[in-house]
Amino acid sequence: TDLSKIRNFSIIAHIDHGKSTLADRLIQACGGLTEREMSEQVLDNMDIEKERGITIKAQTVRLSYTAKDGETYELNLMDTPGHVDFAYEVSRSLAACEGALLVVDAAQGVEAQTLANVYQSIEHDHEIVPVINKIDLPAAEPERVAEEIEEIVGIQATGPWAEGGAVLASAKSGLGVEDVLEALVARIPPPQGDRDAPLKASLVDSWYDPYLGVVILVRVIDGVLKKGLNVRFMQGGTQHLVDRVGCFRPKRTDLAEIGPGEIGFITAQIKEVDQARVGDTITTVKGGADKPLPGYREPQPVVFCGLFPVDAADFEKLRESIGKLRLNDASFTYEMESSAALGFGFRAGFLGLLHLEIIQERLSREYDLDLITTAPSVVYRVHLGKTKNEDAKVIDIHNPADWPDVNRIDAIEEPWIKATIYTPDEYLGPILKLCQDRRGVQTNLTYVGGRAQVTYELPLNEVVFDFYDRLKSISRGYASFDYEQIGLREGDLVKMNILVNAEPVDALSLIVHRTVAEERGRGMCERLKDLIPRHLFKIPIQAAIGGKIIARETIAALRKDVTAKCYGGDITRKKKLLEKQKKGKARMREYGNVSIPQEAFIAALRMG
Ligand code: GDP
Ligand code: MG
Repeated sequence: TDLSKIRNFSIIAHIDHGKSTLADRLIQACGGLTEREMSEQVLDNMDIEKERGITIKAQTVRLSYTAKDGETYELNLMDTPGHVDFAYEVSRSLAACEGALLVVDAAQGVEAQTLANVYQSIEHDHEIVPVINKIDLPAAEPERVAEEIEEIVGIQATGPWAEGGAVLASAKSGLGVEDVLEALVARIPPPQGDRDAPLKASLVDSWYDPYLGVVILVRVIDGVLKKGLNVRFMQGGTQHLVDRVGCFRPKRTDLAEIGPGEIGFITAQIKEVDQARVGDTITTVKGGADKPLPGYREPQPVVFCGLFPVDAADFEKLRESIGKLRLNDASFTYEMESSAALGFGFRAGFLGLLHLEIIQERLSREYDLDLITTAPSVVYRVHLGKTKNEDAKVIDIHNPADWPDVNRIDAIEEPWIKATIYTPDEYLGPILKLCQDRRGVQTNLTYVGGRAQVTYELPLNEVVFDFYDRLKSISRGYASFDYEQIGLREGDLVKMNILVNAEPVDALSLIVHRTVAEERGRGMCERLKDLIPRHLFKIPIQAAIGGKIIARETIAALRKDVTAKCYGGDITRKKKLLEKQKKGKARMREYGNVSIPQEAFIAALRMG
């Protein structure tokens, strides 16, 4: 295809502002979908995505649009994952485009997460076309939102779209969709590339398809990708024979080739997504490029937790299910783990909290597994001093169970993030308090049109538990949150154990900052007191650091009056029963045999 007739773009939008709906409209307007097919949002494939309104795996669609100038354009619409946990995948998708549609809800206005994505888009030198969506809503304020876009994002948005302003649209009714197409043809620059140069294609995304094996989404920079070509993945170091090239319209369509500037897919008999890492560069084995494209990064799990089957008999099923999920998501890691309280399970690592939730949910929903998830943990860098038998060394720890002997620890470093929170003014007070309580350091606070944008530096371990939930609840859902990692900082961290009936419950141990340990310990003991049902004996619940108890609660014994039925008659029978009950108590206590309900594990970790 003539390069000047190609437009590659993505859509940036805050969750629920209408990205998927608009994408479907564009596909429909270009003849890719019938009215009936429109009833389902095509770009969001999985149920979970649909229900949560987020996009997990990027998908790309090639459209053919005949513009008002009479020319037919090839439009490649790239759908990017909608969450901050997938920031790297987003950046690879953006790098494959020359422009972006910025979709902003005409009633909601600009949100923090939109901003983060817009800035990323600007960093990729994108031409950004603002689209103010949902203008059909009674609460729509397109003029105000246009001004807000100019003020906050710093791109033109006021005035008619033909003169550089935002396109006004209702993706729901279809109003303005034609204008969106015209604006993107007119404003987004065509790609550049050299057909005769050695092949350089960027690996934008990969996923597992049960029929085709691993499908790889590519953007060709230079050269041409064809069936039968022997290619090399420059970062992965593997070689493959391309057996299919094509695109999605949105139905899968085979093509003769993918030329420079184009986006499409290839298959090459690859069995695991692990072998097709996002960000890799594909070139030919013979006469290939000598340098890979910049920006490759290994996936780096930042949040870890234990996953255990509620029913120990489900362990094999869990092993199989995790293995299957991993076929399609190379960004999470897992290894076997065993816990005294929970039996056999896995320790898994995720890109972020949402990623963790998605995997957990897919395991329980798609694979029908009841799981206990332990407290999420970040990765701590622990500096160990020299001992008689061992040299000083530095280790990374993400499982409280592996926490070393305190006497050997010289220093501990923990990951920090920079959080950007965007909120209506009235919720600012409680949000600042929340950040302060979580050891946050405020770095900036600005107001834009009745809304506050505040940035905090926060330790990631204070965010992994229930920060989002708290933020959402104190702002009644209005605050938005975005974060990036900013590296490690030294912290005075300790391991806190929870003892139930004098037995440490490993699944409840936690790494906490010393200054908040007592408060957290007290909170956990109090919550556990309510979460663990009474038994026939008294149950002490304690929080301890090393040998030192820092908090304690007691669950009173449930006194089951076993003599009640004896009507005071047979006194020897009464005595026997009492003795039996006492013995029962002793045996229970001896084994520390307390049944802790499954919900207690997670609920106990929610901070009050
Ligand atoms: P996404 O999260 O950005 O992909 O948003 P969706 O496309 O899933 O849309 C979120 C919600 O807004 C859905 O309930 C849509 O039906 C609705 N929606 C999308 N566009 C419009 C619009 O133009 N007008 C109205 N009234 N609702 C819309
Ligand atoms: Mg969507």
